[in-house]
Amino acid sequence: MARVHAYHTTTPEHGAHHGVYHLHDDCPSGKRIKAEHRTSGTGGHRLCEECAELAHSHAYHTSTAEHGSHHDVYHLYEDCPDGRRITPEHRVAGTGRGRLCDKCAEM
Ligand SMILES: [Zn+2]
Ligand SMILES: [Zn+2]
Repeated sequence: MARVHAYHTTTPEHGAHHGVYHLHDDCPSGKRIKAEHRTSGTGGHRLCEECAELAHSHAYHTSTAEHGSHHDVYHLYEDCPDGRRITPEHRVAGTGRGRLCDKCAEM
């Protein structure tokens, strides 16, 4: 499985969405970002819609509010400290329309 990572553009470019970040190298919008403008992290933006579709194969979240865990975020990495607190019976695939976990965004 390809490891996904957050990236965004540091500058508004013609035809590119600024204000979003991408997760996949093969995202059509993400590919339009020039190498010199591409930087890692979410930049505090929301997830690109095309990447959100693709992220379903990687993302997971909890179906219930658990003590000590954020129920409004989703995770991308198995080794995320917060994601690991989700018990298997509460773990659901997909983003759950939450936002990306801060720790996963930095990994
Ligand atoms: Zn994207
Ligand atoms: Zn996480």
